Amino acid sequence: MSGRPRRAPKRSKKYDDEVDDFSDEGSDVPLSDSDSEDRKPRKKAVAARGKKSLDSFTTDEGWSFEPPSIFYKEYGDAQPSDKIAAFDLDGTLVNTKSGATFAKDDLDWKWYNKSAPEKIQAYADEGYKIVVFTNQGTIKSAVKGKAAEKILSRIDSIMEELGVPVQVFACTMDDHYRKPERGMWDFFVSRFNGGVAPDHSKSFFVGDAAGRTADFADTDKGFADNVGIGFRTPEDEFGQADGGKKAAAKKGGGGDVVS
Ligand SMILES: [Mg+2]
Repeated sequence: MSGRPRRAPKRSKKYDDEVDDFSDEGSDVPLSDSDSEDRKPRKKAVAARGKKSLDSFTTDEGWSFEPPSIFYKEYGDAQPSDKIAAFDLDGTLVNTKSGATFAKDDLDWKWYNKSAPEKIQAYADEGYKIVVFTNQGTIKSAVKGKAAEKILSRIDSIMEELGVPVQVFACTMDDHYRKPERGMWDFFVSRFNGGVAPDHSKSFFVGDAAGRTADFADTDKGFADNVGIGFRTPEDEFGQADGGKKAAAKKGGGGDVVS
């Protein structure tokens, strides 16, 4: 009776950036109230959840969800422009304040450095439209779950502090909207730039996943390449991160955060 080794259940980690300190186990997609009272139909509930198709909706905080996998929100009145200054979020505009790789809560962020919000303001003043494209793969299909709520609320906290008109697009799944694929860009251009076609020669994307030796990925560079706009690292754009090498080593930290 005994020789059986006890193993902790393995957590499947398909994507290394999907480790999720936010997630409260099992709280993914809220089921109807009556489900929570059921004694055994756990399997049934899971099956139902799998089948549940995602509809578009808007949260009380003004986030819109567009199936299958995009959250978007506009802060202020972001005017259409043919010049797009686009940014990744985690490891690019902000790092975690806690120093943890993954944000602990919605207030766990600090600017990449002092120059980041200042430069963004300067771009807005020069007529660039500011757009953020972020992969938030920890959300997956749990678009009404607690992880989603915390991640979106953290973005709110960042953008409110920024105080510049900006549009944010966040991809929740591993599909054609996820960087390095260009789906989020096309979604933005087709519906959220007043019909103005971006001039690729004047537009650019800044991101920390640049495929450098210490980088965890090259999804940001791939995104810019796939769109056909210029690519810059946060170091190119803003200089060194606050916290120096330590922060740099953590780059990518955040929610999915991360890329
Ligand atoms: Mg990043």
